[in-house]
Formats: sequence, C-alpha cells, structure tokens
Amino acid sequence: MAGLLYIVATPIGNLGDISERAIETLKQVDLIAAEDTRHSKTLLERFAIKTNTRAYHEHNEEQLTMQLIEKLINGESIALISDAGTPLINDPGYKLVAAAHDNNIQVVPIPGPSAIITALSASGLPTNKFIFEGYLPPKSEARKMRLSELKNESRTLVFYEAPHRIVESLKIMQEIYGAERRATIARELTKQFEQIVRDTLSALNKKLESEEIRIKGEFVVIVDGAQEVSISDEEVLRINQILSENLSPKEAAGLTAKITGKKKNEVYKLALESGKEN
Ligand code: SAM
Repeated sequence: MAGLLYIVATPIGNLGDISERAIETLKQVDLIAAEDTRHSKTLLERFAIKTNTRAYHEHNEEQLTMQLIEKLINGESIALISDAGTPLINDPGYKLVAAAHDNNIQVVPIPGPSAIITALSASGLPTNKFIFEGYLPPKSEARKMRLSELKNESRTLVFYEAPHRIVESLKIMQEIYGAERRATIARELTKQFEQIVRDTLSALNKKLESEEIRIKGEFVVIVDGAQEVSISDEEVLRINQILSENLSPKEAAGLTAKITGKKKNEVYKLALESGKEN
C-alpha cells in the first residue's frame, strides 16, 4: 500500500497555535520534508518530535519530488511542513502535491495557521470576497503596474509584504487608490509585537512615517476593494441615445454595454421599453 502525504500547517509565530493533530501526524510519519530543517528544529524539539527530517525547498524541489514520490509509492508516509504557516501558500510544495495526485497517492491536509486568514479575520475589512495576491513584484515599475491593474477590483485585496518594501508599496497604493481608501496593516501576527492597524491609506502612510507602525518584522497588507459604481437606467439610456445618433442600434447597444458594464441584451431591453413608453 502506498503511504500518505500529509500537508501540515505549523504556527506563524506563536508555537502554542500548533494543533494536536499536527503534532500527532509529525510524530507518526516516516519522514518530515521541511522547507528549512534548521528552522523547524525549534518546533520539533519543543513538541518532542523525533521523526527524521529532509530539506525540501525551492532549490531542490525539482530533483527531490520524484525521490519523495518513490518513498510514498513504497509505503512510507511523509509530512510536508514549511518554515511557518500552511505549506504551498507562498511556500514550496506545489510540485510534490501535484506529483502525488498524478501517482494516485492520497494527500491529507492538516489545517492550521496561515497569515492570510489570520490577518483577514482581524482586519475589519470585508471578508466575504477577497483575492490573495501574494508578494507584489519587487521592482517599482512592475509593482505600480500590478497595483494599477487592481484599481477597480471590488473584492478585498490581500498582499504579503516585506519590511523593506512596505513604505514604498503603501505610498504607491495611496497614489493609485486615493488617500481615502481603507486598508489594514497586520504586523507580527501571533507574536509579542503584534500590531493590527486599520485606517485610510493616507493615515497609514503617516503612521509608517512616524514609526507608530514599526517597519520591522512580517507584514500582511489588506486593502478595501473599489466601490462598485452603479449606473442608473436613465444614464444607460442617455448614453445609448447619443450613440444611436451616429451608429446602428446594434452598434450603439454594444458600445453602451461596454461603457456601462451592462449586458448588451439589457441595453436593448431598456431601449425597447423606453421606445414603447414614448
Ligand atoms: N505559508 C505562510 C502562510 O501560510 O502564511 C506564508 C509564507 S510567506 C514565505 C511569508 C510571508 O507571510 C511573510 O513575508 C509575511 O508577509 C507573511 N507572514 C508570515 N507570518 C506572518 C506573521 N506572523 N505576521 C504577519 N505576516 C506574516
């Protein structure tokens, strides 16, 4: 029988956040594949986990994946952990999990902490719909471009950010999204100097400048989505009317739909109904 591949979430700071099931799994597997074996030593020692470890990181992912899959096929069970939080969430493991599925090996998630969900839950910003962008590109121009592309995104935006880039990123966000857009900076979650601040982008920039928000440690930045603009039926009809003066009804409705974000058949219907009333 093939072994199981466990994907085990570990704490993002506070070691007390590990689950009983995670400890049991890490004790019982044949091998722990860890992003950094030295880093994980603290966690494993704290919970008296004596299982053998093997480094599995972005530089050896390619070559090690097949070796681990062979072990699984031969009946060994393996737990994958990263330095902190949930493996694969901006951490190595995707190739291994994909290869496990390709080889009909059962993948068992052991859920637990992840900085995205931890930050969102305390952000005070809408959480019903959100998108996770991971890290923004390191180069300023590419970062500006990505943030511009997200300008009209109405879902809450979640970013991971490094301390040496947070000031510049927040400035660009203010430039592009405006001073009044709300955001939350979540710093050092679950750790001694945890700080979670929700404010407008301009106020957050001032707090970073004055170091009321310290520029140290690990950060998640959450930004309110853009307000959805709702356009009235009268406005849709007015646009359609202007365009109809120079275009065929089909072309006018198509263009009106593009401008207003309505569906083409909705524009037709509105135009038809208003024609009947006149
Ligand atoms: N796999 C991890 C998870 O599930 O959250 C994320 C790994 S990613 C390489 C590391 C980034 O996550 C950090 O740069 C930071 O943006 C965020 N992060 C991790 N721990 C954090 C914490 N305690 N407080 C705030 N952000 C954290």
